[in-house]
Amino acid sequence: MGRGTDAPNSWALGDGQQIPWEYAPAPEARDIVQLRSRYGMFINGKEVAPRSGQWFTSVDPATEEPLAEIARADVEDVNQAVGAARRAFRRTWGEMHGRERAKYLFRIARILQERSREFAVLESLDGGKPIKESRDVDVPLAAAHFWYYAGWADKLEYAFPARDPRPLGVAAQVIPWNFPLLMLAWKIAPALAAGNTVVLKPASSTPLSALFFADVCRQADLPPGVVNIITGPGEIGLALVQHPDVDKVAFTGSTAVGKTIGRAVAGTDKALTLELGGKAANIVFDDAPMDQAIEGVVNGIFFNQGEVCCAGSRLLVQESIAEPFIERLKDRLSTLRVGDPLDKNTDVGAINNAAQLAKIEELVEAGVAEGAEMYQPACELPARGWFVRPTLFTNVSQSSRIAQEEIFGPVLSVITFRTPAEAIEKANNTPYGLSAGVWTEKGSRILNMVSRLRAGVVWANTFNRFDPTSPFGGYKESGFGREGGLHGLLAYLDLDGGR
Ligand code: NDP
Repeated sequence: MGRGTDAPNSWALGDGQQIPWEYAPAPEARDIVQLRSRYGMFINGKEVAPRSGQWFTSVDPATEEPLAEIARADVEDVNQAVGAARRAFRRTWGEMHGRERAKYLFRIARILQERSREFAVLESLDGGKPIKESRDVDVPLAAAHFWYYAGWADKLEYAFPARDPRPLGVAAQVIPWNFPLLMLAWKIAPALAAGNTVVLKPASSTPLSALFFADVCRQADLPPGVVNIITGPGEIGLALVQHPDVDKVAFTGSTAVGKTIGRAVAGTDKALTLELGGKAANIVFDDAPMDQAIEGVVNGIFFNQGEVCCAGSRLLVQESIAEPFIERLKDRLSTLRVGDPLDKNTDVGAINNAAQLAKIEELVEAGVAEGAEMYQPACELPARGWFVRPTLFTNVSQSSRIAQEEIFGPVLSVITFRTPAEAIEKANNTPYGLSAGVWTEKGSRILNMVSRLRAGVVWANTFNRFDPTSPFGGYKESGFGREGGLHGLLAYLDLDGGR
């Protein structure tokens, strides 16, 4: 039973006694993470201070308190990191037998599992995501990617039979702030399994798990220079991807920056994969099991505060069930617990950074101004930190900003449809094409919808399921190339015996 509109907010015991219907605080201990006051970069197996002598601060989004100072790289640091990666590629990693590379990857996977609680707490502290998600999704999936790609490292000729798979060389990887450790794993695990070396730049608001990962590399005795981590602003990311000695560029983040990188790399022989934004439709037919569909819709948009490129941010619900569905969805929203990311009962944590919070608030205001009807549960928000209430909009027109633009926050726009053809038309009416969801009990309808939806991933009767064996990526403004599975390995290989 939830705390819906009809639900009591306390248990009556008779004699006037009441037991409040509230969760007690259940904070995860944060002392498993030992933070130093400063972190240098990780270049050629060593922690190095920035040549610029400049540092920036990483902040806890739930409290706005500083966590640690982080090195601000300059272009010379980028040169050093790429140079270290090139030497490691030539001297050790590029020529190492796959079964030896696999041992290092297995070791990294095991260490991540051994240190899983520490990484989960760190990820919630630096990123604002609920501990139950970093503990149960981010960290286990990050380890799973290393396990999975470790298994392929000595089997590349079986993965691509009758070809001669060779690594590309040095990979430049730029990752965002919504899944810092998981995006690192998506990028580093296949690159290393294929025999490449890497220079990775994490987002400036969430650099800590990458810097702790540097320690995992040391613990695993990874040869120096195979993984290098540089920290600094976007312009350093651009200098990295433009570096002439980089062979492969992999980026996840906004479509705007993806386009800048695309332009910067155009005309070179660098390989490129871009995983960008999304505006996914989660389509619910009138024969779908309603309770499950409601859970799927909630998970689709409120997982990780909606800061998910493949979030189901547009609910397309069949008109015949729209009214009861939306009522029950509102009830369910009123049970979501917003607050301290380190509390094990929290469903919706802090928004990652102040700029993102401002962007969400601006788009919510635009939704109201454009005439959509807003619903927000009456939950209390913490006095400090960057928080926003789960938000649902009905009466949303197809052309409104909240139906077209990626909000990247816990904001759901509801649109109705009558026929499958109308659902397809509306779902595909977006510049993006990353993911979609279909809820129906008819298998034939699922197959029909999947073949007509222009989305890289379509979930049927579920949403936001990830698996290292499954390729993930988009169409149109959501980018190109696939990560995960054999497709993800292919992005780091030349199948014709070297370039
Ligand atoms: P960005 O795309 O700016 O950041 C992603 C990464 O790219 C970060 O490491 C960033 O560094 C780096 N970067 C920024 N500018 C450049 C550049 N010119 N060249 C190379 N690298 C660069 O995302 P934002 O943080 O600005 O978020 C803005 C919007 O992007 C969000 O509101 C959301 O809509 C979308 N987004 C989508 C994501 C996805 O997974 N598809 C993830 C994150 C955001 P730094 O952090 O130092 O700026």
